[in-house]
Amino acid sequence: MSEGLAGDTPVYDLVGVGFGPSNLALAIAVAEHNRATTGEPVTAHFLERQGSFGWHRGMLIDDATMQVSFLKDLVTLRNPSSEFSFLSYLHDRGRLVEFVNHKTLFPLRVEFHDYFEWSAAKVEDMVSYGTEVVAVEPVFDGDEIVYVDVRAASGAVMRARNVVLATGLRPRIPDDVELSDRIWHNSQLLHRMSSAPNDPQRFVVVGAGQSAAETTAHLHSTFPDARCARCSPGSATARPTTADSPTGSSTPRRSTSSTVRRRTSRTG
Ligand SMILES: Cc1cc2nc3c(=O)[nH]c(=O)nc-3n(C[C@H](O)[C@H](O)[C@H](O)COP(=O)(O)OP(=O)(O)OC[C@H]3O[C@@H](n4cnc5c(N)ncnc54)[C@H](O)[C@@H]3O)c2cc1C
Repeated sequence: MSEGLAGDTPVYDLVGVGFGPSNLALAIAVAEHNRATTGEPVTAHFLERQGSFGWHRGMLIDDATMQVSFLKDLVTLRNPSSEFSFLSYLHDRGRLVEFVNHKTLFPLRVEFHDYFEWSAAKVEDMVSYGTEVVAVEPVFDGDEIVYVDVRAASGAVMRARNVVLATGLRPRIPDDVELSDRIWHNSQLLHRMSSAPNDPQRFVVVGAGQSAAETTAHLHSTFPDARCARCSPGSATARPTTADSPTGSSTPRRSTSSTVRRRTSRTG
């Protein structure tokens, strides 16, 4: 991002903040539109604070599956003949027949992440990674807002006619909970697990959605001898689970956040 605020600053039709699946899908739509149009192309650029594409990497548990059909990929509902579809990706990777034979609509999340990365690489000229946006400021002509300046932490600025914010959700921690090396948000699961002690004895998972269930199962499979309890809002007590019952009594479909507490003491 080299543009400054000089008078000849280029004005983009669209600047996108964040480059997760939402703005990736938008970038693809713009690219396909520009290829097809005989008129003026839409000028668009996207700014992503991560150094490379990454979709909730801390929760990419090996056997976790997508929660929606693969047909709700980046493009199919808009353009079923797109070369950016999940089926095109599978074909490109030589996996199409194997996937069809699996008879599932719900691929592994790890594979869908690879699909996202494959798609993002095809439009990488439209994105600047390692660029955190810190401000979005109106540019006035008299009383009228004519442009918007999107300012990065580095001080660089991009001027746009339209801005699309797709910065995703923020992990939410319950009030009065202080994060520490033993208490963390679920979004950090795999990063924290890599530095976990060899023989943790107890875990408490707070939350009742799919993420909490996946985390509980993952903890059981990684540490089969450890005890694990999962709590949900409204439950009076934690319900311990055992290695024989890795996901507890119920498996609700969706959760955006949960908190994991890890205890290493046998008496804790
Ligand atoms: C573990 C997990 C599994 C999920 N599974 C599914 C599923 O199977 N199906 C489904 O439909 N949904 C699922 N979801 C819901 C999820 O919200 C969507 O899949 C998807 O991630 C939303 O895409 P997004 O681009 O809006 O947001 P995000 O994926 O959160 O992407 C936002 C991006 O913006 C960047 N960003 C944030 N702030 C800035 C800034 N200031 N400057 C620059 N960049 C910034 C972030 O780094 C990030 O890359 C899941 C969510 C989680 C946490």
